[in-house]
Amino acid sequence: MSPYGVYYLKHLQPLIEDVGGLLKGHGWAGDWLAIDSLEQARPGSLVIVDEAALGPERQPLMPARKVLVLLQQWSLDACAEWLAAGARACCEQARADRIAAELMTLRAQLEAAEVRFGDVDILQSVIDAIPVPIFYKDEFHVYRGCNVAFNDYIGLPPDKVVGHSVYEVAPAELADRYYAADEELLASGGTQRYEAPVRYADGSYRDIEFNKAVFHKPDGRVGGQVGVMLDVTERNRLMRQLEKFSHTDPLTGTGNRREFDAVAHRELRHHRHSGLPLSLLVLDVDHFKQINDQWGHAVGDQALRFLVDQCRSQLREADRLFRTGGEEFCMVLPRTDLEQARRVAERLCSHMRGQTLNLEGISLRMTVSIGVVELTGDDDIDESLERADQALYRAKREGRDRVNLALPAV
Ligand code: GH3
Ligand code: MG
Ligand code: MG
Repeated sequence: MSPYGVYYLKHLQPLIEDVGGLLKGHGWAGDWLAIDSLEQARPGSLVIVDEAALGPERQPLMPARKVLVLLQQWSLDACAEWLAAGARACCEQARADRIAAELMTLRAQLEAAEVRFGDVDILQSVIDAIPVPIFYKDEFHVYRGCNVAFNDYIGLPPDKVVGHSVYEVAPAELADRYYAADEELLASGGTQRYEAPVRYADGSYRDIEFNKAVFHKPDGRVGGQVGVMLDVTERNRLMRQLEKFSHTDPLTGTGNRREFDAVAHRELRHHRHSGLPLSLLVLDVDHFKQINDQWGHAVGDQALRFLVDQCRSQLREADRLFRTGGEEFCMVLPRTDLEQARRVAERLCSHMRGQTLNLEGISLRMTVSIGVVELTGDDDIDESLERADQALYRAKREGRDRVNLALPAV
């Protein structure tokens, strides 16, 4: 038997003795505690009062206790009234057996409620077992609970979280952001997903994907919000890396064909909008196969990296260099007309002619051929590239190590 005490108003003593006697026969244990007024009874406890002693000013104290009201004369109307005012049960004062029965019922309810409190502990154990940080806050943005993973993640024990606001848990600049997101979620209801930085236990900042949802009280009103934190720092790093890889040539570090397309189209749109000139160069190394054949593929790779360094040294900052094929490169030259582009190409050509790549025991020279095209009017990238390619092949045919200009579009 659980040791719940029962409070009763002092003047009911004789009656309580009768009731206690009846209950004893049914294994009832626990103290009988005499009080002068309702407020002396501990909130949550069982209390026996008579209606004559319970003035309206006492009634607000009832709902927080389990009050059994004794009626001088039992009636359904009176009973309904007291129940509406927060009493748990009503009994005719003269019926000690009925009073004993109601007490047994009320205590059984109390015990059942305790089992439910036990469920709360089990719930805590369950969320503690989840290896992902979880928290929940009430409708006033106050943390009401979290799991061990959450405490470990942010480096604060439960008592520094539960009962506190986000401003006491997170750095001020982040707290504003979290609070705004919380407000938005409470206002809109439903679920919410967003990324925000979080200060990790070691003081470093990590990328977190918050997955949050509003929860409701049994009566349907908003009770607060529950959130799960997924650490996406590594995922984001890999995505950035993948992003970079997807438009970079791994050998030379220049943009690749895909990046060339994106940049060329962007510059073409700018050219059409601004009317400023735009030119492309297509460069191919002369007899590159011989370099590979003579010195091996690894030296060929070195030669390509060397070529890229040399080209960059001859280009302006706004010019962009891309490796679009094995030993073939494209350059996008914004604000550059055909004549200016030709001069850049000639400079590149003669610069390369004068360079020597010195590797262990190897002195390597290479020349390049370049096709030049200026985009005008309605030219598109592919068609202009085709014309530059034709110019490049003419340069090859005419003896290599030279520049050739694209013919006007027909
Ligand atoms: P041409 O003057 O007519 O351009 O002659 P070429 O030898 O440069 O032309 P070709 O297209 O016949 O040869 C290009 C060579 O580039 C063949 C290929 O093995 C080599 N190549 C392509 N990609 C790479 C690379 O990533 N590294 C190395 N080392 N060689 C490469
Ligand atoms: Mg070549
Ligand atoms: Mg080639």
